[in-house]
Amino acid sequence: MREHGCIGCRVTWQGASEDPPEERDAALTLARRIAGALGAEVRWLIVGQAPEGHAAAAAAQGVAGVDHIADPSLGDERPDALTEAIAQYCAGREVAVLLFNQGFGTRVVAPRVAHRLGAGVVMNALDVQVDDDRLDVTASAYGGDTRVVYELDRSRTSVIALLPNAVEAEAAEGGAEVPVTGIDVDLGGVQERVRVIEAAHSEGPRLEDAEVIVAGGRGLGSEENLELVEQLAAALGGMSGVSRPLVDMGWIDSSHQVGLTGKFTRPALYIAAGISGATQHMVGCTAAKTIVAINTDADAAIFSHARFGIVGDCNEVLAELVRAVNESGAAS
Ligand SMILES: Cc1cc2nc3c(=O)[nH]c(=O)nc-3n(C[C@H](O)[C@H](O)[C@H](O)COP(=O)(O)OP(=O)(O)OC[C@H]3O[C@@H](n4cnc5c(N)ncnc54)[C@H](O)[C@@H]3O)c2cc1C
Repeated sequence: MREHGCIGCRVTWQGASEDPPEERDAALTLARRIAGALGAEVRWLIVGQAPEGHAAAAAAQGVAGVDHIADPSLGDERPDALTEAIAQYCAGREVAVLLFNQGFGTRVVAPRVAHRLGAGVVMNALDVQVDDDRLDVTASAYGGDTRVVYELDRSRTSVIALLPNAVEAEAAEGGAEVPVTGIDVDLGGVQERVRVIEAAHSEGPRLEDAEVIVAGGRGLGSEENLELVEQLAAALGGMSGVSRPLVDMGWIDSSHQVGLTGKFTRPALYIAAGISGATQHMVGCTAAKTIVAINTDADAAIFSHARFGIVGDCNEVLAELVRAVNESGAAS
């Protein structure tokens, strides 16, 4: 029996808007399932400042114990120190699975931790199944249009980074208070090789949580027409999203970008206006319950993902939809 069989490892930093509770709880839910199948326990490693509500979350998720490396300066801006801290933590323990939520910092840290531990690593994970002698990790690949299953040897530590919105969080039974153990690490010799000059921070509602998203692509034709996307999003009580070219052209900031290098969304309704349906975009919205596509090209790839399709000029259709929604709102 392993001393610490399975660890849902959370890397947390100050003011972390990138550390939403639902993603944390989803990772802890998956960690609990894996640990149950392995006959192991879930420990939650918090590095840096502990997030608000962590004690209640640990209890609700059936965590056996919280291990806390409490240096408040540890975060995304110190990836070398984070890597060292997590590697030192693992060195004294038998860790079956080190499970991260995949965010910007995880992309930098998780593969390096895996290298330090001589562990197998899978990024972009969607699910983990435990087999007799291996873990089957389903992951998104090739920009999201392919699912691959990696077989990881159970006799070695596995490092897995879970994509946002891949797993639904479920509370565990019980909910007993969880002991917190302070962990000491020696980071004296660590030198950061990359210096962060300015970190991007966004505030307000997150695109990832929106129930309705109206997204515009290059087919809008001009920056002014983006306003139609914003108007329809507002009329439907949703948020506006965009494909990457609009961010690259400087029409809007990257917090609105949907896709592989943007946000992974899961709305009930996703309206894609003037978007071709490239895999790098679709990976950020295929989890939508209903996709409505508006495109002048009847053969555009987006139509193969859409439940409803409108072949036409998106600017005309958007303007008509804004009018219709506002009228129906005014009438009701
Ligand atoms: C490593 C990598 C990462 C990437 N990450 C992302 C990402 O996160 N998100 C992302 O979006 N992209 C990403 N991309 C870019 C991606 O490959 C596509 O280039 C991009 O999604 C295309 O955006 P688009 O559909 O708006 O533009 P286009 O591909 O140019 O498509 C425009 C569409 O609008 C239609 N159209 C033209 N005029 C009209 C009109 N008047 N009315 C209606 N329809 C019209 C056209 O028929 C066409 O289908 C990435 C690429 C790489 C290589």
